[in-house]
Amino acid sequence: MKHELPPLPYALDALQPVISGEALGFHHGKHHKTYVDKLNEALSKVPQYDDWSLERLLTDLDAVDPSVRTAVRNHGGGHHNHSLFWRTMCPGGAPLGGEIRKAIESSYGDFGTFQSAFEKDAAGLFGSGWTFLVWNPAHGKVEIESLPNQDSPLSKGTTPLMLCDLWEHAYYLQFRNLRPDWIKAWWGIVDWRAVDANLSAART
Ligand code: MN
Repeated sequence: MKHELPPLPYALDALQPVISGEALGFHHGKHHKTYVDKLNEALSKVPQYDDWSLERLLTDLDAVDPSVRTAVRNHGGGHHNHSLFWRTMCPGGAPLGGEIRKAIESSYGDFGTFQSAFEKDAAGLFGSGWTFLVWNPAHGKVEIESLPNQDSPLSKGTTPLMLCDLWEHAYYLQFRNLRPDWIKAWWGIVDWRAVDANLSAART
């Protein structure tokens, strides 16, 4: 299958002032598009995966031929992470509620404690990567998970529900080197309704 860059679900300037139109244009149109293009380029050499979905490629990464495994991990992961990232943000954010609120409170006691733990993990991630909120089916609960580069939680047996991009390309145009300021601003555009729907889907 040919993988495609998904259109953004909002206008380029819709997430301002947290993400400027210029920053979002580069992030989606250049960075994300490059992951899609390089994934397609790698997969063009291995037609046996033509009917594998992106989710299957990342979940069963160890079964993917070694000649393309790193490309799938990096570019497939980059495509999946960014696709989820766009879909879990919206202009002005959407309030926390529903089952995701209960799940976060069950794991962390209250939202403030969760938020502090997430920020600490994200600020402390060395180099480039992402901090995720995942559904861990083995533990039956939601958990914070930070991974380097474009690794996907799917390859570790957990399901990503929401995520914060900690690559400098995500924040350097506006926040320069101040990663903690980017994380704090990002909370304001998290679409918790979408995250709640992701949790429902992950549990079934
Ligand atoms: Mn990115």
